Amino acid sequence: MRKKVIAGNWKMNKLAADAKQFVADAAGKLPKSENVEAIVCAPFLYLPELVKQTEGTDLKIAAQNMHYEENGAFTGEISPSMLKDSGVTHVVIGHSERRQYFAETDETVNKKVHAAFAHELTPIVCVGETLEQREANETNSHVEKQVRAAIAGLAEDQVAETIIAYEPIWAIGTGKTATSEQANEVCTHIRQVVAKNVSEKAAEQLVIQYGGSVKPANVDELLAQSDIDGALVGGASLEVDSFLQLVEAGT
Ligand code: 13P
Repeated sequence: MRKKVIAGNWKMNKLAADAKQFVADAAGKLPKSENVEAIVCAPFLYLPELVKQTEGTDLKIAAQNMHYEENGAFTGEISPSMLKDSGVTHVVIGHSERRQYFAETDETVNKKVHAAFAHELTPIVCVGETLEQREANETNSHVEKQVRAAIAGLAEDQVAETIIAYEPIWAIGTGKTATSEQANEVCTHIRQVVAKNVSEKAAEQLVIQYGGSVKPANVDELLAQSDIDGALVGGASLEVDSFLQLVEAGT
């Protein structure tokens, strides 16, 4: 049985005091359940402090991005070993906002995924189509291309440990959620792509999240789908109460 993984992606939000308060509140109130994992993806600046705050709790802290190079002349970047050193367990890779505004490509995503595993960080790899691609019936082929590129060269057990977040770009921050059937259809396709290109075993273990306007009102229906194993949540993860309701839905 795959666990449900609920990850709150704060994006570029919150100042330090608010971040600390959120984590203190959320960590203390998480449901005690083996079936769900709760993660907060916070801005780089706060990571060491938030990791310290969550010691001994079930709340995990993730970064929202990293560079793939180990060190050197990359002004403004954060390396995989710096993240590992900070104590985070997960890292979001290839979010559509990074692909769109910061020139992330399938190739850099693949390099980052390898770098994450080299440092024992679990990658949360984002894939998803634009509205134009959906309307042109290119959703499955586009997402398949992104998934295959992201996992290229990984060992079977690494693929099994990867988290893939299917986030249709047209549903991010727009209030337009994909219907649970639309979301599940693509998540099923992703699992089939992994079964065909890697193994049935890796596909069976792979956690696939849905992301895009997930909120307490629609999370139950999404999580009830056969191939949706969790959610990557932006807006609705900024308030402790709604974040906790989302985690509760995964129990
Ligand atoms: P929203 O939940 O705000 O639509 O954001 C989704 C997302 O991009 C999470 O990474």
